[in-house]
Amino acid sequence: MRDIQHFIDGVAVPGASGRFGEVFDPNTGEVQAKVALASAAELDAAVQAALKAQGAWAALNPQRRARVMFEFKRLVEARMDELATLLSSEHGKVVADSRGDVQRGLEVIEFACGIPHALKGEYTEGAGPGIDVYSMRQPLGVAAGITPFNFPAMIPMWMFGIAVAVGNTFILKPSEKDPSVPVRLGELFMEAGTNLGMDLAGVLNVVHGDKVAVDAILEHPAIAAVSFVGSSDIAHYVYRTGTANGKRVQAMGGAKNHGIVMPDADLDQTVKDLVGSAYGSAGERCMALPVTVPVGAKTAEALRERLLGEIETLKVGVSTDAAAQYGPVVSAAHRKKISDYIQLGVDEGAELVVDGRGFALQGFEKGFFIGPSLFDHVKPTMKTYRDEIFGPVLQMVRAETFEEAVALPSQHQYGNGVAIFTRNGRAAREFAARVNVGMVGINVPIPVPVAYHTFGGWKRSAFGDANQHGMEGVKFYTKVKTVTARWPEGDAHADSAFVIPTMR
Ligand code: NAD
Repeated sequence: MRDIQHFIDGVAVPGASGRFGEVFDPNTGEVQAKVALASAAELDAAVQAALKAQGAWAALNPQRRARVMFEFKRLVEARMDELATLLSSEHGKVVADSRGDVQRGLEVIEFACGIPHALKGEYTEGAGPGIDVYSMRQPLGVAAGITPFNFPAMIPMWMFGIAVAVGNTFILKPSEKDPSVPVRLGELFMEAGTNLGMDLAGVLNVVHGDKVAVDAILEHPAIAAVSFVGSSDIAHYVYRTGTANGKRVQAMGGAKNHGIVMPDADLDQTVKDLVGSAYGSAGERCMALPVTVPVGAKTAEALRERLLGEIETLKVGVSTDAAAQYGPVVSAAHRKKISDYIQLGVDEGAELVVDGRGFALQGFEKGFFIGPSLFDHVKPTMKTYRDEIFGPVLQMVRAETFEEAVALPSQHQYGNGVAIFTRNGRAAREFAARVNVGMVGINVPIPVPVAYHTFGGWKRSAFGDANQHGMEGVKFYTKVKTVTARWPEGDAHADSAFVIPTMR
C-alpha cells in the first residue's frame, strides 16, 4: 500500500499522528493508498519551516522569484502526462480533463512569472512642498491554502502561485481524497529552485489532514492569511474562525449555476454546451451548469428533445478511456449522496426524464460510476433545486419570461457562475448587468475567468472580499505600506504642528 506523506521543509515527512485517510481509485473502488492526517504539532512543524525560509525568500529580488516560477512552469509542463494520469487515478476525471486541471493552474503560474510588474507600487512626486508619497506591497509572511478534491492541481496553484511569487512562504493543506498531485507540485517547486542553484526548503510545504489540520491552521498565530475553497458551510466556518483569530481570509464555497436559454438561442450549440458543462467531470465542478432555464414552453420542449438525443450518446468510462466523456465520481459516499438527491427529486414531484442510477461499467462494477440524469419541471421551492448536488444531474426549471429567468439565479442562495444563451446582444447585456451572480457567461457555458482576471462568486459561494488570482490575488497576499517623505533644505526648522497636517 502506497503511503502519502507530508512535504515539509523540502523533504517527505511520514505522518506521526497515527491517523490516516484512505485514498481510493474511483475506477475500481479499491483503496490504493493511505494518506497521513496531520496533528496540530505536525502543522506547527511546517509553519516553523515556512517562518525560517520566509525572510530570505522575500529578500530575493522579484525577478529571481519570477525565474523560479518560470522554471516551475517548465517542470510541470514536462511532466504533464504523469501529473494528469496521477490526478485521474485519485479523482476519477478523465485524463484529458485532468490535463485541463493542471493547465488552468499553470496559467496562474504564467501570471506569476510577471510578478515584478504586478508588485510595483505607486508614487506621487510633490504631494506637498518637498514631499513625495510612495507605496510598496510587502508579503504577509506565512500564508496557508485549504483546497477541495475537485481541482487538486488548479486550485492549489491559484493560491500558492501568487502567494509565493509575492514573497510569502506557504502551507498547502490539500483535500485528503486526492493528495498526490499537490505533493508532486511541492516537489517540483523545490526542484525548480535546485535547478537554479537555490535551496527553497520551507517555501512551499504540503501538510495533509482533515478538520484537525484545518483548525490548527485557523488557530496558528504565525499564519497571516488563509485561502479556502470547498463547500459553503465549511467555507463559512473557515471565514468566521480565521477572521476571529485576526487572519485575512478568503473562502470560496459551493455553487448552483444556471444556464438560461432564450428563445433565439442557437439550440444546437447550446445543447452541446449544456451537456458538456452539466456532465463533464461527472458534474463535480463548481462552475458546472446543473440547472438549465429555458424561456418559454416552445424553447423548453425543443431543448428537452435535443438534450435527450445528446444524453443518449454520452459515454461514461474509466478515466484512462480516451473515448469517455466522464469517469466515476470521487467516492462511494458521494455517489450515494447523488443517488439520494435523485430519489428526493422524484419524491418532491419533479419529472425524472433520464435516470442515471443503476449504471454499471462492465469489468468495473465496484467503481464509483453513475450515469447522467435529467429532471424536467423542477420548481424553485424544491430542496433538490436549492442544494448543490455536485453530480451528473441536470435540472430543467421552466421560465415564462426573461424577468423570471433573471430572478432565478439572482434569488438562489449560491451566486458563483451563470450563463445566458442568446443571439440578442441587448438581452445579454441587460442580463449580465442585472443578475446577482459573480461570474457571467454569454454563450460561454463555463465562464471561469482567465488567470489575469479574477475568480470569485457572490452570496454563499464566497465569504470575504478578495477574489482568487489576478491582481486581487496579489492584493490578498500582500499588505500596502505607504511612505510620506520630506527632505528639508538647509538648517531651518519648522515649528511643532498641533493640528493635523493638510495639503491646502
Ligand atoms: P469540502 O468542503 O468537503 O472540503 C474542502 C476542504 O475542507 C478540504 O481540504 C477538507 O479536508 C476540508 N474540510 C472538510 N471537512 C471539514 C471540516 N468539518 N472542518 C474543516 N475543514 C474541513 O469540499 P470538497 O467536497 O472537497 O469539494 C467540493 C466543494 O467545493 C463543492 O461544494 C464545490 O462547489 C466547492 N468548490 C468551490 C469552488 C469555488 O471556487 N467556489 C471551486 C471548487 C470547488
